[in-house]
Amino acid sequence: MRPSLLDPLFAPVASIEGVGPKVAGMIARVVPADLGDRPARVGDLVFVLPHSVIDRRNRPGIAFAAAGSVVTLDLRIDRHQAPPRGNRSAPYRVFAHDDTGEIALTFFHAHGPWLERTMPVGEHVVVSGRMEWFNGRPSMVHPDHIARADAAESLPLVEPVYPLTSGLSAKVLRRAIGQALSRLPPLPEWLDEDTMRSQCFPSFAAALQALHGPAEPPDVSPEAAAWRRLAYDELLAGQVSLALVRSRAKRLSGRPLGGDGRVAAALVQALPYRLTGAQQRAVGEIRADLEKPERMLRLLQGDVGSGKTVVALLAMAQAIEAGGQAALMAPTEILARQHLSTLEPLAAAAGVRIAILTGREKGRERAATLAGLEDGSVDIVVGTHALFQETVRFRDLVLAVVDEQHRFGVHQRLAINAKGDAPDMLVMTATPIPRTLVLTAFGDMDVSRLTEKPAGRRPVRTVTLPLERLDELVGRVGEAMAGGQKVFWICPLVEESEEAGVMSAEDRHAALRRTFGESVGIVHGRMKGTEKDAAMRAFKEGGTRLLVATTVVVVGVDVPDATIMVIEHAERFGLAQLHQLRGRVGRGNQPSSCVLLYKEPLGDTARQRRAVMRETEDGFRIAEEDLKLRGEGELLGTRQSGTPGFQVARLEFHSDLLEIARRDARLLLSRDMDLASPRGEAIRLLLYLLGRTEAVRLHRGWHRPRPHRPRVTGRT
Ligand code: ADP
Ligand code: MG
Repeated sequence: MRPSLLDPLFAPVASIEGVGPKVAGMIARVVPADLGDRPARVGDLVFVLPHSVIDRRNRPGIAFAAAGSVVTLDLRIDRHQAPPRGNRSAPYRVFAHDDTGEIALTFFHAHGPWLERTMPVGEHVVVSGRMEWFNGRPSMVHPDHIARADAAESLPLVEPVYPLTSGLSAKVLRRAIGQALSRLPPLPEWLDEDTMRSQCFPSFAAALQALHGPAEPPDVSPEAAAWRRLAYDELLAGQVSLALVRSRAKRLSGRPLGGDGRVAAALVQALPYRLTGAQQRAVGEIRADLEKPERMLRLLQGDVGSGKTVVALLAMAQAIEAGGQAALMAPTEILARQHLSTLEPLAAAAGVRIAILTGREKGRERAATLAGLEDGSVDIVVGTHALFQETVRFRDLVLAVVDEQHRFGVHQRLAINAKGDAPDMLVMTATPIPRTLVLTAFGDMDVSRLTEKPAGRRPVRTVTLPLERLDELVGRVGEAMAGGQKVFWICPLVEESEEAGVMSAEDRHAALRRTFGESVGIVHGRMKGTEKDAAMRAFKEGGTRLLVATTVVVVGVDVPDATIMVIEHAERFGLAQLHQLRGRVGRGNQPSSCVLLYKEPLGDTARQRRAVMRETEDGFRIAEEDLKLRGEGELLGTRQSGTPGFQVARLEFHSDLLEIARRDARLLLSRDMDLASPRGEAIRLLLYLLGRTEAVRLHRGWHRPRPHRPRVTGRT
């Protein structure tokens, strides 16, 4: 249960004076929290941090105010000059002076009575805005702030500037944030004194005050103590919640999975190739983990084409040798089916029973698989999200492998935990995530890396071409197809209507069909599952030799004899995406190429991406460049622009705090696992405040007794 202390912050923003449903909707777009489908709350507003300030401290006097500069002036009002009747386009002018000269304050479409009230003749007022000089005469059009001299301190001399969305005025947002801050209840300190002192952190409330009411422009920098304090809070909350999830996971486990190696040996025997050194090492690390009584939580990172699937298979073999079952989860149906078709012949050779379960399996077939999982006659199940459904029950799930992790969130990981007796987890990702990101996104996971690609892979030649030279490219692609090669052709959109001037997959398919006839296929996200399968199968088997596709459907697909990858409108794709797409070719022993078709003129970022793509095929380098060019959000495939999953922490500034937060979290939990101490209680508030509620919920679950399950020690 949420402590009632936090109630004011959990009220919807519409409860703020002056914020109606419409403004609330716009505010929902600027708050950094990932709202899902809940409305924005008062507590979300305080984390809308300024990106800069307007410095209004310059008070030179009218005569000395430079054109274009922002100044604050102390004025005496002389007279009002309303526009002539019937001339709505003429401005309303208010003339005023100070010791140095006279100025015209200019207003268009003004409300005269309001101006008369705000600036009565003879009154002393303070105004702030941008100075203009017109024909040697000073003026200020629509001053940003006007205040009577006796209320001058209400005028923000260093004014924070917030991110805006269209329709939401800076003033309205600033007021709403001010209101939200005033509702902040007094909160206990959740940081320990040592950290506070060594980092010179202000309190949580003081940090918010400093950022929203800066005294100096540097106060709003992400490197300022106030911002760092909030970033630390967030990193700490993240580390504590990940540690809670993890420790619960480990605590639940305690089941060593030893195998005699027979199933694994039979599989290796059936492989048409030898494992690379990197694959052997990863398999060894995983085997050692599985044998330990602690639960495995391991991330397997390997660039596209590095051969992660077979590593997963060998891990699953050990699970089976130990008498359990394994699940392999893929993000799309196509990938699930591809895994099945790769694994099926190998499994058959080793006597392993394998089945598939996606949203598509229905009726008798589905019932048979469900029964097989429940009675243990299915050893390995390959599937999609469908595996998380409640109707899916395992006899003894001991290992869950998740492919392309960045598409699955923490929720799914928790859901799979519920399926077995806390199964060991192996998470595979092709995105070479830098260490700091692994830590923020996955916590203390162990990591295995496939640093080497299978032998005999040839580099992919990358060429770039302006869209104008499409005809030439089509000619060359035609020759390649005639010579027996296979071509992927990626388009950014499915249907034409979505955006003018961009060839959609459907249109490109139609156009290429006119040239190449039946040998052109298409696959995109809006097709039915069975249609997608048929298109993929036709391409794999050679019925079609050119496959027009959208990106999502081809992530991870393996067609070893495809040699040409054409990416149309390459300027629309991020580096990680381009790299992932290029990784679809260069998998066989034929020379391959990747053609990036660009629409000119190119922006800076697109040009830099193009250069990186031409220079390197090293996924790790590409990920780092991507990080520089786009920020971490894209790298993990998440929508937010900051660091994924974070509202205020930004790793380009705060990565030094991450390690401290990790140690802090560990120490805290080692002393106070139940968050029962005063600091623990305070940390709980922090977790609620930052929406880390899964962890708190989990925490409650601890006290439920676990059902006793017999241990299975050998294969029966
Ligand atoms: P990814 O790591 O991108 O998921 P896959 O597991 O799909 O890569 O493997 C890519 C291709 O490489 C597959 O066709 C697979 O059969 C092949 N492969 C995997 N390991 C080896 C190896 N050691 N030697 C040769 N080919 C391999
Ligand atoms: Mg893969």
